[in-house]
Amino acid sequence: MPSVYLDHAATSFPKAPGVAEAMGRYLTEVGASVNRGMYAAAQAAEETVLSLREELCALFHYPDPACCILTPGATWGLNFVLLGLLRPGDHCLVSAMEHNAIMRPLHALAARGVAFDRIPCDRDGRLCPDAIPRLLRPNTRLVALAHASNVSGTLQPAAEVGAICRARGIPFLLDAAQTAGHLPVDFQALGLSALAAPGHKGLLGPQGTGVLLLTRELAQSLSPVITGGTGSVSHLEVQPDYLPDKFEPGTPNLPGLYGLEAAVRYLLETGVETIAAREDALTGRFLDGLREIAGIRLAGPAGRDGRVGVISLDFPGRDNGEIAFRLEQEYGILTRSGLHCAPSAHRTLGTGTRGTVRFSLGHSTTEAEIDAALQAIRALAEG
Ligand code: PMP
Repeated sequence: MPSVYLDHAATSFPKAPGVAEAMGRYLTEVGASVNRGMYAAAQAAEETVLSLREELCALFHYPDPACCILTPGATWGLNFVLLGLLRPGDHCLVSAMEHNAIMRPLHALAARGVAFDRIPCDRDGRLCPDAIPRLLRPNTRLVALAHASNVSGTLQPAAEVGAICRARGIPFLLDAAQTAGHLPVDFQALGLSALAAPGHKGLLGPQGTGVLLLTRELAQSLSPVITGGTGSVSHLEVQPDYLPDKFEPGTPNLPGLYGLEAAVRYLLETGVETIAAREDALTGRFLDGLREIAGIRLAGPAGRDGRVGVISLDFPGRDNGEIAFRLEQEYGILTRSGLHCAPSAHRTLGTGTRGTVRFSLGHSTTEAEIDAALQAIRALAEG
């Protein structure tokens, strides 16, 4: 039985063509670290990492590669901003749909005197920007938002939120974990101050990689959460305050960065617009098919507008964990069940106690795979 991989929201698989080869090439032919040697292999590694910064900037329409911080994942980038910026007495706004990558650092900060509020969202998980002004306080220092929900695929009106933040001079942090590589994301057009994304989801790179893009203004007001050797200004015992070194202590994950560079080059060559159009058509096919099936409840937007290809289903009266197990055992369909590290999103969507079975599409998903999933859902829901 062939496997149908529909868990791209957790991590993409397969990776972009050339990723495994680039990682293998680094490990067998390069081997050197960056910022720490003058020999040719070290220079070659340096150039690859610089190309990666430039390619990530091209992908997110950001002009300054020095402001492209390479991180071990989205979680790190989000923590760098939340923990680096917010101080006791500060206030932060998030939506009612956030992943624990934002909520857990915020709860840790709340124990130290940082307050936060959630922007209410409707039953489809969409926030209303009009609700934001009355939630802002004189001490609001940050608005942080998941661009798209990892539970329901709901896309937030990031440009409208960005305009509100920009008008008031409040930094805006976007968690692009579910949109980077799936949708065109334009840092400046969205009015962002920071964008965090993992390398291993829609960017099609390996695990243990990620990116944090920062405006220089925000970068200046952030304290580095982790400090250490950078291979630069070694005579100083304090962290350099220039970018990207300020936020890149320690030896980086070079095999991972070589893989991510191959992946982002592939995305730029293919065009995120092309991937987005394919995934949108497949999402439409999936949603159309679901409408014909009794005994399921879709959590989140029923149409393909205002969403990405993350589709969560509840099978009322059934055990969603068992459904996911049977999807694999009987049909070879790989999904994820439960609360997906986002309990707040489930409360908003009305699936807080039961969780959902999540089907998430990616660059490699085919029409035949969508049809196989629909057939299996029908058999399990109506059977
Ligand atoms: N935010 C969202 C919306 C996510 O879906 C995820 C991954 N599930 C993260 C943040 C964290 O990404 P990572 O685990 O790669 O750091």
